[in-house]
Amino acid sequence: MDFDYDLFVIGGGSGGVRAARLTAMDGHKVGLAEESRMGGTCVIRGCVPKKLMVYASTYPGAVAEARTYGWTAQVGDFDWDGFRTHLHSELDRLEKAYHTNATKAGVTIHEQRAVLKDAHTVALADGTEFTAKHILIATGGRPVRPEMKNADLGIVSDDVFHLPELPKKMLIVGAGYIGCEFAGVFNGLGTEVSMFVRGANVLRGFDEEARGHVSDAMQQRGITIHTGCAPMEVEKRGDRIWVKGSNGHTEEFDCLLWATGRKPNSTGLGLEEIGVKLDRHGAICVDAYSQSDVPSIYAIGDVTGRVELTPVAIREGVAFNKTVFHGEKTPVDHDLIPTAVFTQPEMGTVGLTEEEAEAQEPTLVYAAAFRPMQQAFAGGEERVLFKMLVSRETDKVLGVHIVGPGAGEMIQFVGVALKMGATKADFDRTCAVHPTMAEELVTLK
Ligand code: FAD
Ligand code: NDP
Repeated sequence: MDFDYDLFVIGGGSGGVRAARLTAMDGHKVGLAEESRMGGTCVIRGCVPKKLMVYASTYPGAVAEARTYGWTAQVGDFDWDGFRTHLHSELDRLEKAYHTNATKAGVTIHEQRAVLKDAHTVALADGTEFTAKHILIATGGRPVRPEMKNADLGIVSDDVFHLPELPKKMLIVGAGYIGCEFAGVFNGLGTEVSMFVRGANVLRGFDEEARGHVSDAMQQRGITIHTGCAPMEVEKRGDRIWVKGSNGHTEEFDCLLWATGRKPNSTGLGLEEIGVKLDRHGAICVDAYSQSDVPSIYAIGDVTGRVELTPVAIREGVAFNKTVFHGEKTPVDHDLIPTAVFTQPEMGTVGLTEEEAEAQEPTLVYAAAFRPMQQAFAGGEERVLFKMLVSRETDKVLGVHIVGPGAGEMIQFVGVALKMGATKADFDRTCAVHPTMAEELVTLK
């Protein structure tokens, strides 16, 4: 049977673009539909604008520290309008680059929504239909608000980058990656930030000691954290938003940010109608090769609800290309994924938490918390944490957790060592780089 395309990709985000480009560069005919902006969540409303806001928010602290190093610097006012304009022109530049690079690779881009008609046919919003031998769903996810009265008074992460002005007082509900990262951002920019955390602490799922360390530092930096507190009532009161928590606490804010998780973009695509199975969260069920129950239909990235990180979506796109277009069956490797939470201070983590390691096997725990040289000189009290979990039986390093400046950069290379199966002895026989914070990794006792 003749098809219009060898591959049709729905979604021009991190995963979809990588799979489309690789396949087109292999000489295949590739179409891609994007209903919003090329680059997807990461580039337009995720990693990139978020990280630029993290950078923006660190300058007041840096200036204060600079004074202890002899500079007569003063923190001026933050120009939100100026920053936001610069931010969006950078995002426009990146969007264009995504568009150009995909087109140059030979991908035909359709700037509209696509849905499935059958196992080999997609329909675009304008009614055009295309057939494809393989269809790849890479539609990502979207933020969700809790189901409660007046939830629409609050914004979600997509809206943060378009705020008309910097809020003076903000409540963030939810304490995963997004809630904690934006708490640090707005606190650094001068907003008074409170958080409602329904559990006992922020960042559920991360190493207990490391998340405690982050939470203590966030509070020392001025963020108010209400734990064991879910939102019960939300009301508009004049210009402000009044919120009541499950612990009885009530307060008014200028801005309410729901950071209460994300949902896969799988509804209205015609998936279930043609036999593609979804799990109870709406994620597309796929096998180790990202293939759905319908053999011609694959799915990668956040829409599969596996690990919601940009580099993972990209690797899933690469594995898909190898499996389907190179005849090399390549399962996606989700083991030992290093990750960083860009809180202030940052947390970098790879492998098992102490709790997971101990549940798995007898574990030796090495940890050091100390004031790094740069901080100590400046008179700061904030400590960094270096923690390593080691198998008592094999000496293999099972997990590493770092909290402190540059933790994201450090954990990238720790990830390489763990992927190679490094033991504690391997770390110990590596010579330290002095004076650095990272030398702690090879001197932990
Ligand atoms: P996406 O990038 O979401 O792309 C999906 C695309 O599909 C979108 O452009 C969408 O418009 C399009 N689409 C959807 N439905 C259709 C349709 N029917 N037709 C046509 N087009 C459609 N990850 C990290 O690794 N590091 C970080 O620092 C980080 N920070 C983040 C910060 C925030 C605020 C958020 C929200 C996420 C962050 N992430 C981060 C997660 C990361 O952005 C995602 O894991 C990644 O973008 C997923 O890529 P994807 O290709 O699966 O989907
Ligand atoms: P998460 O699922 O990580 O966090 C959601 C938070 O909201 C949790 O604290 C959760 O509490 C809380 N919550 C959920 N529902 C409610 C409710 N009804 N009332 C009160 N609290 C609620 O989602 P995020 O949106 O923060 O992040 C989504 C994913 O995006 C991350 O898992 C990550 O993969 C990716 N990401 C990665 C980043 C990075 O790499 N630096 C940065 C940003 C996002 P509880 O813990 O009790 O369930």
